[in-house]
Amino acid sequence: MPTVDYLSIKSLSVNYLQRGKTVTALNSVDLALSHGKTGVIIGPSGCGKSTLFNVLAGLNTQYSGKVLIDDKIPRGGGETALILQDYGLLPWKTVWDNVTLGLQLRKKIPQEIQTQTETMLDKLGLLPLAKRYPAQLSGGQRQRVAIARALVLEPKLLLMDEPFSSLDALTREEIQDFLLEIWQETQLTILLITHNIEEAVFLGQRIFVMSPGPGQIIQVVENEMAGDYDLRGKVPFLEKCNFLRSFLHRREKYAAGV
Ligand code: ADP
Ligand code: MG
Repeated sequence: MPTVDYLSIKSLSVNYLQRGKTVTALNSVDLALSHGKTGVIIGPSGCGKSTLFNVLAGLNTQYSGKVLIDDKIPRGGGETALILQDYGLLPWKTVWDNVTLGLQLRKKIPQEIQTQTETMLDKLGLLPLAKRYPAQLSGGQRQRVAIARALVLEPKLLLMDEPFSSLDALTREEIQDFLLEIWQETQLTILLITHNIEEAVFLGQRIFVMSPGPGQIIQVVENEMAGDYDLRGKVPFLEKCNFLRSFLHRREKYAAGV
């Protein structure tokens, strides 16, 4: 029997060994997201968000609980793409070579690599920059290259770990809009980690609020305002932001024993 949810996490716990001591990074996390939806995870630093992504990307298999992506145990590779804050581009390769690398590793035929890369760079407005190196690009352009490199492999799940943190506010909004366009076009399932409450409300159809470490999901907020440009900054949007903000602050005070 297939599960209804594309992404299904039940009672996920992860422990690390730090100098001979066991540290619990995630404590019985439950999370579910349907196919083609956007989810956002928000929570304080150190609460286990990246740990959760490492499990989903198949990079950490030392966990307890049940984790399924499209009914399969995560093993990394083709269907799941992970984009990190520092872009993860190879500095000695051009934009073009960074984007083709994954296709080459998959041993695609050169003609296919050429066409797919060209189409993707064009879609992201990066064709004029194809011959540049990452050091010759702005932060926003680098992040677009990282997105192009992930999307050219046609993943079904896009994981983004604080992808826009180092961008200035304007570039950040541009890339948010741009991500939304891609999502509307491809109907990818997207899970994004952020510290930014407005970003969470603009992008996340379902918002998961995490407690300070050891991380648990303490609140799931359904958000029908996600993706609506017209509502951004309007009263209902700000009310949703304030609701999340007060909730996060409450938990922080609680954790600090205030
Ligand atoms: P977040 O991404 O929410 O900031 P992380 O998932 O990076 O949090 O870390 C959660 C907790 O696990 C932190 O206390 C961190 O120090 C610890 N941790 C993360 N990775 C490792 C590791 N490889 N070995 C030991 N401890 C780790
Ligand atoms: Mg992190």
